[in-house]
Amino acid sequence: MKTTLIKVGLDAIYFSGGHIAMRPFCRGIGAILTMHHVVPRKEARFAPNNILEITPEFLVRVIKMVRRKGYDIVSLDEAHRRITAPDAQKPFVCLTFDDGYRDNLEIAYPILRRNDAPFAIYVATSYPDRVGELWWLALEEIISKCDYIGVLMAGDQQHFSSRTLAEKQEVWDKLYWWLRNLPQKEQRQVIRDLCARYDVDLVAMCEKMIMSWDEIHKLAFDPLVTIGAHTVNHFALAKLSEADARAEMVTSAEIISSYIGERPKHFSFPYGDPGSAGPRDFEIAKDAGFLTAVTTRKGVVHKEYADHMTALPRISLNGNYQSLRYLDVFLGGTAFSLKNRMRHLDIA
Ligand SMILES: [Zn+2]
Repeated sequence: MKTTLIKVGLDAIYFSGGHIAMRPFCRGIGAILTMHHVVPRKEARFAPNNILEITPEFLVRVIKMVRRKGYDIVSLDEAHRRITAPDAQKPFVCLTFDDGYRDNLEIAYPILRRNDAPFAIYVATSYPDRVGELWWLALEEIISKCDYIGVLMAGDQQHFSSRTLAEKQEVWDKLYWWLRNLPQKEQRQVIRDLCARYDVDLVAMCEKMIMSWDEIHKLAFDPLVTIGAHTVNHFALAKLSEADARAEMVTSAEIISSYIGERPKHFSFPYGDPGSAGPRDFEIAKDAGFLTAVTTRKGVVHKEYADHMTALPRISLNGNYQSLRYLDVFLGGTAFSLKNRMRHLDIA
């Protein structure tokens, strides 16, 4: 329902031509796109994480469309240069992928290479180290295969029926957001307990879904590719102490550096919403030496971000909105400017 309403709103902006009239004011100097998986569309009925998946065909269409609209597809280094020293160049688009999924190498990379399109992959190091929890994928697998789920919530054993698709969706909404809001270490303990109880192998999940260090190392050799950091444990940094948040950022950069021989200059905040990354964390990222850091706050990049390079907004290519029309509206920036009451910065 919510998705439908948003689509109607985007269509209204598109067909009214509002995005064209306001474009000179709202478009900014570029945009950074967020992606996760690039995979053929699955037919599974219960697939709540498919918002994180775009198809290879859509990726090709995005590359062609942004170039047709006059954007340069550039690396994060070049985006950094253009934001901090704006000149009268064409607007830019950066293509970024979070987490380090193997489909980025096997499916997205050949497409990006063929189209000579620079891109970045942000790696959370516990995943290629095979000790991390891909907890949102584990939760999907548990709900998908179980008809009945028991969870200890705040000391109480709760039971959920998850037989029908509607029930599975309901349990997902409840458990996903409950887990998202738990203290980070407790969240992982709950997931580990659930995985043990319902026979989901977190190590095997990392091995299957995430590139190995060897694969990341090979990719890093290609000048088209930027490897960025994405913490060690994929924690929402705003929920950690300052010391822990700093350690997550610095340690992930050091681990990546030990594998690819170069310290990453770019960082992506896990989850990236205001509750997961705030002003304190933007400062730590700057202090830790990153040239840029990206959030998932929605927006295009305006020149005012030159003073806030570790709080950059992005536009998410959401699996539920695989339409060039929506991307065109988003790139125009009008929707974000209206939401932010015509302010160009969203950094509070
Ligand atoms: Zn992530």
